Amino acid sequence: MPPAKSSFRRRIRFSGRWRWLGKLVYALKAIWRRVRISRRVTYLFGPQYSPSRQLIEIDITYACNLHCLNCNRSVTQAPDHLHMPVSMISAFVQDSIGRGIRWQRIRVLGGEPTLHPEFSAIIAELLRYRQWCPSCRIEVVSNGYGDAVKRKLDALPNDIWIENSNKTSAIQPTFRPFNMAPIDDPAFAKADFSNGCAIMQDCGMGLTPLGYYPCAVAGGIDRILGAELGRSRLPADHDQMLDATKSLCQLCGRFQDGHFIPKPLRSPMTEVQMSPTWTELYSQWRLRRLSHAEKDQQLEPVSAERSGKS
Ligand code: SF4
Ligand code: SF4
Repeated sequence: MPPAKSSFRRRIRFSGRWRWLGKLVYALKAIWRRVRISRRVTYLFGPQYSPSRQLIEIDITYACNLHCLNCNRSVTQAPDHLHMPVSMISAFVQDSIGRGIRWQRIRVLGGEPTLHPEFSAIIAELLRYRQWCPSCRIEVVSNGYGDAVKRKLDALPNDIWIENSNKTSAIQPTFRPFNMAPIDDPAFAKADFSNGCAIMQDCGMGLTPLGYYPCAVAGGIDRILGAELGRSRLPADHDQMLDATKSLCQLCGRFQDGHFIPKPLRSPMTEVQMSPTWTELYSQWRLRRLSHAEKDQQLEPVSAERSGKS
């Protein structure tokens, strides 16, 4: 793969002999985070983070050819083949140009984005945006797993950046716990969840098949919760989406750290970690799916009759 497509890499490492320093710095950051997200401090200073207006992540599908443990889009825990219609990308491009929004970076991900049946059409729409905003960097974030995915990546134009995590297994020891809901942890009893976390700033606002969210992870949570908190159009600048952060961040394990932790400082995660709220949410999601499928089956003969095909 040519260097122009190579991965975006974090520069902070804190490995080897500097590990102790990293541990100290991040222990202090953790203490500050706990203070900053308390209701009292949030009341005084407002939320610690707000959704980015320069970076955006677009989850174009929840289909994936890997089923990693602790996936933060619930691809393994709640498999679905929900794809974003190309018309949503066209509306995003139209709204962005119409409102003069110059995104610094647009990342396309999922699920595994190359598995979207209209992947090429989506990239073409985003390139249309870049003709209007040439400084925008368009990235595809892929697991790089399997020949079909690799062929799609190779076929991308050279000026699309590729962040390829080259996954080879469902076990991802450097993942952070996603399904450990802070509301299940008494340590967060006094937290104000509207604080969100650094992902809103570092990765950007989220656009998913269900709409716009403070971050793409939040959209993935709402797919399971079914609260329909996404915005159908690009949020206005004054819309901090606080209703979404309040409801969705209380379920998100990423709220606990609140910021990026360098890989050498993370405890390896090799098993599923799930708190009781998430076990219940996935069970409710499965029941909803079952009931929708039953309703669809009951409706089928009626539509056939109406269409004169019975
Ligand atoms: S490759 Fe990514 S989207 Fe797919 S299951 Fe793994 S973490 Fe989830
Ligand atoms: S805590 Fe989770 S849902 Fe909330 S902003 Fe962070 S990553 Fe998004």
